[in-house]
Amino acid sequence: MDVRKALPPYRIKVVEPIPFLTAEERRRALADAGYNPFNLRADQITIDLLSDSGTGATSAAQEAAAALGDESYAGARSWFRFRDEVRDLTGYPRILPVHQGRAGERVLFGSLLKPGQICISNTHFDTTHANVLLAGAEPRDLPCNEAADLDSDEPFKGNIDLAALERTLAGPEGHRVGLVLMTITNNGLGAQPVSMANLAAVRELCRRHRVPFFLDAARFAENAWLVNQREAGYGTWTPRQIATRAFQLADGCVVSLKKDGLAAIGGFIGLRDDELHAACEANLIATEGFSTYGGLAGHDLERLTQGLREVVDPAYLRARAASTERLAELLDDVGVDTVRPAGIHALYLNAGRLLPHLSPREFPGHALGCQLFLDGGIRCAELGSLYLGEMDEHHRLLTPAPFELVRLAIPRRVYTDTHLEYVAAVLADIAKDPEQVSGYRIVSAPPLLRHFKVRLEPLPPAAGRSVASYG
Ligand SMILES: *Cc1c(COP(=O)(O)O)cnc(C)c1O
Repeated sequence: MDVRKALPPYRIKVVEPIPFLTAEERRRALADAGYNPFNLRADQITIDLLSDSGTGATSAAQEAAAALGDESYAGARSWFRFRDEVRDLTGYPRILPVHQGRAGERVLFGSLLKPGQICISNTHFDTTHANVLLAGAEPRDLPCNEAADLDSDEPFKGNIDLAALERTLAGPEGHRVGLVLMTITNNGLGAQPVSMANLAAVRELCRRHRVPFFLDAARFAENAWLVNQREAGYGTWTPRQIATRAFQLADGCVVSLKKDGLAAIGGFIGLRDDELHAACEANLIATEGFSTYGGLAGHDLERLTQGLREVVDPAYLRARAASTERLAELLDDVGVDTVRPAGIHALYLNAGRLLPHLSPREFPGHALGCQLFLDGGIRCAELGSLYLGEMDEHHRLLTPAPFELVRLAIPRRVYTDTHLEYVAAVLADIAKDPEQVSGYRIVSAPPLLRHFKVRLEPLPPAAGRSVASYG
């Protein structure tokens, strides 16, 4: 790593202590949590890599702006500052504020999708998937073939499969396609970016078949940075210019600003179509708030307006990307494979490969996540069979997930490289003796969104057990 490139363009002004529990306290905490990290308390966690959503640090300039928050019910100054910034960034004339991304999905899909229609994506994020279903439509993922090879260094594994998209649009189901939604970066698939060429081709196909084309642009700035670094022709563009170009290619967007808004809460819908705007606005006022605040306080809007300026700073994006890449290198050095190439907002550990002694129904990703907490107080999220696998009513795994992954999400401007070195050190120790990590079985699970409320228990250590006994 070249430290000149990795140097963050800020220093730290306000700090928050992090908890350190003893190994015995962590063991008890995890047992009390039903071996589900979502049930842990924040004051039990040393390094929290559960999510990069709403977990970033704000800047002095953002907090100064927040003091100017105008809390007028309608027509607040803060709204106009926010709206102008978002218009300038996206080029969309119609902007609706929402309190977070999924609220935008609900409002947009409620007006845009009709029951029985299909929504096609490179990969739907989980709440996006749920909101398409709630609108009575069918979410369908068409990731590119390159995405299936976790180890290859293909630069744009977040792309959609253009041939499959064209086949669907031109085929017998074509008339049912109500929306094509491109997630940038592709959060559901290893934080991989989408190329501008892929977005331009999607736009052409959508034009030809008269289907609306939207972006789910929670990480628009991080995608823009990876385009700048990896796609021919964009090396001299600023991240902001690339982001604006991406928004221009689409008919509209839905954005969670809990990620690249550099704030704890917020989101927006961007639109060109006046009729769709009117329909969304009516829904917004009934369910989120008046159309000049959309569930956000004036001070939130101010933090976001400033955050949107800071997030496209090339020095910030370069340092953040370098920090994630460095963690990937440290893990590679100790034999822990991650999904390649490293993205920016998260690293995805290949738990299936690190823990080959555990079968998918012993949830190796979950087991690795629990071990990271037990050994180092580190919290992260499983993205494997516990989350994505198909199960019967007795919680027995019928169809495993394609991969057993663990996501280490990196909050923005929160942890230093020393914190990430600590994570690598804890993982290095696990990798020295991976057979020590035992599997888990489900004790109870809710019918919907299982991963949030599931309770588990550890299985006896590998040596003395027989797989058939808990079949
Ligand atoms: C986080 C996220 C959402 C949902 O946004 P929230 O603000 O969490 O409601 C939608 N799409 C993507 C790609 C996301 O990462």
